Amino acid sequence: MIWKELESQLAGLADSHLLRTRKTLETGCSTHVSVDGKPLLAFCSNDYLGLASHPAIQEAVCKAVRQWGTGSGGSHVVNGHMTPHQMLEEALARFVGADRALYYSTGYMANIGVVPTLVGRGDAVFADRLNHASLIDAVQLSRADHRRYAHKDMAQLEKMLAASDAKRKLILSDAVFSMDGDVALLKELLDLAEQYDAWLVLDDAHGFGVLGQEGRGSLDHFGIPFHPRLVYIGTLGKAAGVSGAFVAGTSTVIEWLMQRSRSYIFTTASSPVIAAALLASLELVRQGEDLRGQLRQLAQSLHEGLQGTAWRILPSFTAIHPIIVGENDAVLKVSEALMDRGIWVPAIRPPTVPKGQARLRISLSASHTLADVGRLVSALREIQ
Ligand SMILES: *Cc1c(COP(=O)(O)O)cnc(C)c1O
Repeated sequence: MIWKELESQLAGLADSHLLRTRKTLETGCSTHVSVDGKPLLAFCSNDYLGLASHPAIQEAVCKAVRQWGTGSGGSHVVNGHMTPHQMLEEALARFVGADRALYYSTGYMANIGVVPTLVGRGDAVFADRLNHASLIDAVQLSRADHRRYAHKDMAQLEKMLAASDAKRKLILSDAVFSMDGDVALLKELLDLAEQYDAWLVLDDAHGFGVLGQEGRGSLDHFGIPFHPRLVYIGTLGKAAGVSGAFVAGTSTVIEWLMQRSRSYIFTTASSPVIAAALLASLELVRQGEDLRGQLRQLAQSLHEGLQGTAWRILPSFTAIHPIIVGENDAVLKVSEALMDRGIWVPAIRPPTVPKGQARLRISLSASHTLADVGRLVSALREIQ
C-alpha cells in the first residue's frame, strides 16, 4: 500500500529522536504559559520585545476590526489592498530608510517570493550554509545554481563569485542566524556584492526590532545605509509580535516584485486588522529602547550565570542564546529535565541544525525578569 512507506518513515523518525510533537498552549504568547494545566516558564518564543500581547496593539485590533471587518477579500493586486496595508508599507519603508516596501503575509512567503523574482535559470545564488530553510526553498524554486559557502566564510564566497560566469548573481544570507544568534558580516557582504555586481538579499527576521537604533534592524546596527543592490526582508511575527513580513528596497525592485512575485500576487492579502495591529506595533518597536535595554541586561545575566559551568553557550548580542549539546537524545534529556522543573527551552535537532550540533535554543524576551533568568540558570547548574 502506498501509505506503508510513510508509516515506516515515521517510525524511523521516532527511533532517531526526530519526531516532532506539539504542545497546546492554554494561554496566549507570554513568558509564563500553561500546557496541560501546568505552568511553564518559557524561553522559546520569538516575541523578543514582548509585544505579542501588548494592550495598545489589542486596542488597535479592536478598533480596526470594527472599521475594516476581518477579511481582505482578495489579492493585493486586485481588491485586497486597503488603507491600513498602504499606510503600513509607507511606515515600514520610512522606518528602515528605503524607497519603498512591500508587505507579505509571512516571512516564508516573502522569501520564496523574492529570490525567484530576481534570479532564474542560468543565474547563481551564493548562500550561507546556515541560512534559514525558507531561503533554501526560495533558491530551489528559482532554479538558479545554488552555491553554498561555509558559515560567514567571506574568502570562500569571494572565490565562488570570482569563479562564476553566471549571468546574474545574488548573495543570500540571514542577517541574524536563527539557530546560532550570530550576525552576518554585512559590510563585507555588501562590498563583495558591489565588487561582483550582485544583488544582496538579507533576511533580518531576528534583527528587526532587536538591533539598531529604534530597532531598525541589522543594517542600522552596522551603520549601513540603503543601497540599490540591497533587498532587505524583515519579518513581523517575531519582535513585532504580530505576523507577516516586508521587503524593502528601491522603487524599481519593489515595483518588479509587485508585478512578478508569485507569493505576493497569487494569495489573498492578509487581514487589514493585521496591518492595523502592525502600525501600532511599529510605534512600540520604535519607542522600545527600554525593552532592548532589558534584553541586553537579561543576556548579560544569563551568560554570567553560566560561567564556570559545563554548558557551552554561544556568544550573542541578539535575543537568541543557544547552548550546544551535541547528540539528539542528549539534548532531549536536558530539555526534559528543564521541563520537570517547569522550564520550557526547546531542543533543536537536525535537520534544523547540522548533525551532532543539537542544541537548546534559549530565546529571551523583554518581558522576562532577571528572576526568570535566575531560575533558568539555577536549573541548568543543577542538571549539568
Ligand atoms: C521565522 C523566519 C522566517 C519565516 O518568517 P515567518 O513570518 O515565520 O514565515 C524567515 N527567515 C528566518 C531567518 C526566520 O527565522
